[in-house]
Amino acid sequence: MHVIVLGAGVVGITSAYYLARDGHQVTLVDRNPGAALEASYANGGQLSYSYVAPLADPGVWPKLVPWLLSPTSPVRFRPQLDPRQWRWCLQFLAACRGRCSAETTRHLLRLGHASRRLMHELLIREPGLDCAYAHSGKLVVYRDAAALENARRQVEFQQGLVADSDYRQEVLDSAACINREPALDGLRRKIVGGVHTPSEDSADCYRFSIGLLARMRAAAPENRCLFDTSIQGLRVRQGEIVGVETSAGLLQADAYLLASGCDSARLARPLGLALPIYPLKGYSLTAPISDPNAAPTLSVTDFQRKIVYARLDGQLRVAGIADIGGYSRAIAPQRLATLLAEARAAFPAAANYEQIEGWAGLRPATPSGRPILGHSPYRKLWLNVGHGALGFTLSLASGRALADLIGGQSPFVALDGFTLPGGPGKAGASAC
Ligand SMILES: Cc1cc2nc3c(=O)[nH]c(=O)nc-3n(C[C@H](O)[C@H](O)[C@H](O)COP(=O)(O)OP(=O)(O)OC[C@H]3O[C@@H](n4cnc5c(N)ncnc54)[C@H](O)[C@@H]3O)c2cc1C
Repeated sequence: MHVIVLGAGVVGITSAYYLARDGHQVTLVDRNPGAALEASYANGGQLSYSYVAPLADPGVWPKLVPWLLSPTSPVRFRPQLDPRQWRWCLQFLAACRGRCSAETTRHLLRLGHASRRLMHELLIREPGLDCAYAHSGKLVVYRDAAALENARRQVEFQQGLVADSDYRQEVLDSAACINREPALDGLRRKIVGGVHTPSEDSADCYRFSIGLLARMRAAAPENRCLFDTSIQGLRVRQGEIVGVETSAGLLQADAYLLASGCDSARLARPLGLALPIYPLKGYSLTAPISDPNAAPTLSVTDFQRKIVYARLDGQLRVAGIADIGGYSRAIAPQRLATLLAEARAAFPAAANYEQIEGWAGLRPATPSGRPILGHSPYRKLWLNVGHGALGFTLSLASGRALADLIGGQSPFVALDGFTLPGGPGKAGASAC
């Protein structure tokens, strides 16, 4: 079967890799001159299989005023004259219910841990995959007692939901946190405790994507990438997709997989498909590590600040911030400065902060935090979209599952909670 994958971010590439491995012919199409140059370029590098609780939860309500007013808040709302933004925000608030958040966590844990198994299988199968992978473990630290208490309840809730013998989470006090990660000493007086999960990993998403792409291409000479090629729309006849209009002309195949990140909603709209995806803009900085003893070895998340730290070979990657304010990928200097100030305060001697590489990207987010996976209401069109803050982590399971479905098999992991019910116009998977 010939499959056209629309979008060469980590989600499209992982799907293409599994499709090629299954013996299908694959064409990847992307508007950029190379692969993984948008949201998948310099993300936080966390393979966060167990920390999947969505942004939409009841704890959001007391934070709404700072999100609206504070210029340094980790989440900010910048109102736009765009009904899609307002609709998304209303759906997001509707998803901030305990039951919805718990259901989303349950589904995402299943997908996250399926990804973990696939990642470990992949590392054995593709030993030369050079992506700064580390079996780092993850420590999430908390700055107030109430947040730590909520985290303790979350740990209890998740126990029993994960059928993975390596999975365990431990709640630590602040001294134990610094014992596990001595580089956190600078935050000794600021943190009250944390949750340590030894089974989490980290890696460089861009290098991972490029490595898988090379393997997809090598799998068969007819597999190809069409870069610098803009997708303009999907051509439909009698409920079936019959081609993709692109700047290089009409492309045709036996199946089409939409994996266009934040642009997926725009491409699906003319089909009458209302995919509830809106960009959550985030930032990262990458700095060369100057003192390895002062840089974290564990992946660290500062929960209150919503900032993640990962060591990627000789570099420290710092990522965070979620701005709800349109599609621009331009770097706002004051937002990057906020991230830099936090990194300097947390790990002052770890890296050479004079030599940072700053970056901004758009997380393709659904209101509930669940990606939309599986069949569309149109024959031959499949969806692998809306992975939000977890696209690197979930790309393996969602790519493998979509390759299964397109090949006519049952998906290797259950996709309930992620599929789009109903026909054109349905908001589907975002609703709880
Ligand atoms: C600051 C930040 C930190 C993050 N940290 C993490 C993390 O630690 N762990 C984690 O798991 N996830 C993380 N994420 C989320 C993750 O990066 C995204 O979920 C993931 O990259 C989305 O992948 P994608 O392939 O769906 O989208 P993209 O990578 O954006 O790929 C979509 C592709 O489609 C192409 N495209 C779109 N429209 C068109 C068109 N019309 N024509 C042609 N091509 C088109 C684009 O060029 C792009 O290459 C983070 C994101 C950000 C912004």
